[in-house]
Amino acid sequence: MNETATAPTAPLRARAEIDLAALRANVRALRAHAPGAAVMAVVKSDAYGHGAVPCARAAVEAGARWLGTATPEEALALREAGLPGRIMCWLWTPGGPWREAIEADLDVSVSGLWALRELVAAAREAGVPARVQLKADTGLGRNGCQPGEDWAELVAEALRAQSEGLLTVTGLWSHFACADEPGHPSIAAQLTLFREMLAYAEGRGVRPEVRHIANSPATLTLPESHFDLVRTGIATYGISPSPELGVPADFGLRPVMTLSASIALVKRVPGGHGVSYGHHYVTPGETTLGLVPVGYADGIPRHASGAGPVLVDGKWRTVAGRIAMDQFVVDLGGDEPPTGTRAVLFGPGGRGEPTAEDWAQAAGTIAYEIVTRIGTRVPRVYVNEEQAG
Ligand SMILES: *Cc1c(COP(=O)(O)O)cnc(C)c1O
Repeated sequence: MNETATAPTAPLRARAEIDLAALRANVRALRAHAPGAAVMAVVKSDAYGHGAVPCARAAVEAGARWLGTATPEEALALREAGLPGRIMCWLWTPGGPWREAIEADLDVSVSGLWALRELVAAAREAGVPARVQLKADTGLGRNGCQPGEDWAELVAEALRAQSEGLLTVTGLWSHFACADEPGHPSIAAQLTLFREMLAYAEGRGVRPEVRHIANSPATLTLPESHFDLVRTGIATYGISPSPELGVPADFGLRPVMTLSASIALVKRVPGGHGVSYGHHYVTPGETTLGLVPVGYADGIPRHASGAGPVLVDGKWRTVAGRIAMDQFVVDLGGDEPPTGTRAVLFGPGGRGEPTAEDWAQAAGTIAYEIVTRIGTRVPRVYVNEEQAG
């Protein structure tokens, strides 16, 4: 887990400020986007790098009725931290903590018979029925049960175990491949197949509490995909699922994380001075350099070498040369801000700072990866923890 710092004003080398008021507002906005459905805040991978427990708490306060994680360990950690309500996890491997999950009242997902059988054995041992959601592959081609015979078998075996009191099928669900590309033909095809696979299971007698397929982009752009529950990850953190869909403000969302570092050194150098490993940047003339003490060990993508933007003293600067493990350099163009000046790598953007999306473009990736990869060496500093009204 991440280090957490309690004093937001401590002069830290680097910090990721997490605005929990923004997160709560995002959850409320998402509830408004999907008024007929419950919201599952997806808090896998340490809440996309924002800190699982504080973010999960804030999301629940703002009305998220479900929490979702990839691994059972992540879900169990939430329960151990006292999070109430429904918690679902979907990425299981053989020998996983099925019994612990059952005893913690988690909803587990199964995509195939091996998983169902391990679950049933654990439920027998625990003497408590498991809550299980059957996952259909409607076209993503990743996890999930194939339609047709495989689905028929999975549904039949689940219903047999349910009739023996070993489990309850609480949900039927699937996941989109291209929901961030509105109009992509796979979207309609997946919805059609999902409806067919639902109808098949319900026809056999499954009575799910929830049917769900929508991730953030589907929640924001595809009301017919909302069903009973929407699973929102990236939008919870105030980031648009894709720049083609729009900026966060278009959806009433506000980025939650602000990443900054304290300038560690400012110095004057002559023209022709090579900067950082490989000398991929050479000063075009006499200038000043600022040392930003974060690097790829902190999750700053090395692919953004020579490209990543940083706000220093009101001006955008660009990473000069390579991003190293622990530090990178910006050309301050002759300015001499005092050491300790905060360099803002990204934030909501409202104060002129770059956004995680700007870093994604600089690194040739998606904003999801930018926030999720921020390393454990960067303390998360929580602001607006108390819910005001
Ligand atoms: C990560 C994930 C989500 C959330 O996706 P976003 O695009 O971040 O909203 C939803 N469902 C599943 C199965 C996931 O793995």
